[in-house]
Amino acid sequence: MEIVEQPELMQDLADRLRREGKQIGLVPTMGALHDGHLSLMRRCRSENDTSVMSLFVNPLQFNQKSDLAAYPRDLEGDLKKAEAAGVDLVFAPTEQAMYPEGFQTFVTVEELTRRWEGEFRPGHFRGVATVVAKLCTIVKPHRAYFGQKDYQQALVVERMVRDLYLDVEIVVMPIVRDPDGLALSSRNVNLSIEERKAALSLHRSLAFAEERVRAGERDAKAIVEGMRRIIEREPLARVDYIACCHPETLEPLDRIGGRVLFTLAVWIGKTRLIDNALIPR
Ligand code: AMP
Repeated sequence: MEIVEQPELMQDLADRLRREGKQIGLVPTMGALHDGHLSLMRRCRSENDTSVMSLFVNPLQFNQKSDLAAYPRDLEGDLKKAEAAGVDLVFAPTEQAMYPEGFQTFVTVEELTRRWEGEFRPGHFRGVATVVAKLCTIVKPHRAYFGQKDYQQALVVERMVRDLYLDVEIVVMPIVRDPDGLALSSRNVNLSIEERKAALSLHRSLAFAEERVRAGERDAKAIVEGMRRIIEREPLARVDYIACCHPETLEPLDRIGGRVLFTLAVWIGKTRLIDNALIPR
């Protein structure tokens, strides 16, 4: 497995691979790898000749310095896991290489980023869109892999790719969970045993929503209120948002007609967790 730090070198390698007719797949990550990341890598490996994983804790998408500082890092462990998952090339640029002095070009996706994560984390999606656009022009992938865990992010990236005619196919993969339902997240390592128990309320509330929809409930607000009650029963939990919305526009819904997205962000102690469910699946 090769490790490349320099964007220019990565671009040269990508050019060479493309000239040789190789299909390139990219899995963008911020490291602290878990089985969710690995599921993207396995899919990437099965669909491409060369699998590239980027590893970059993107400061631009953190709206709080403390969150960036607390973000888990494990370079050595990540490289081992990536290699075992069959990654051919790790692109791990420095902050200086990605945002050198004088850098002043950003990508903003407008409507899709107004609500939910965009509202609670101002500037977050500008950071995400900018870094993903840069990763695509540096790694030149034919396909890039994202997780449904960050549902709004995947939509934002898909919109950006369409709007900018970026020549890459976006593949979105299902949420990988622990056996008890907790969605895997790099941030989970920051949870104490007690907090991890409280964090199960996120999945419990989504399971409740699914059960209510299946039972014929069409009042979205009533379901969201039920979800809130489930989560607020946990003294360690503090809700940022819980919503039932249109799966493409992310506009909130009062009534459930077709497929809907339930999405939520909840603080458990000092750790902010997100989760979602498309219902019906
Ligand atoms: P991150 O390192 O948190 O930026 O995540 C890198 C990619 O892995 C993103 O596309 C995430 O949506 C995806 N991802 C994170 N957690 C999971 C999960 N539990 N299941 C599937 N994909 C995930």
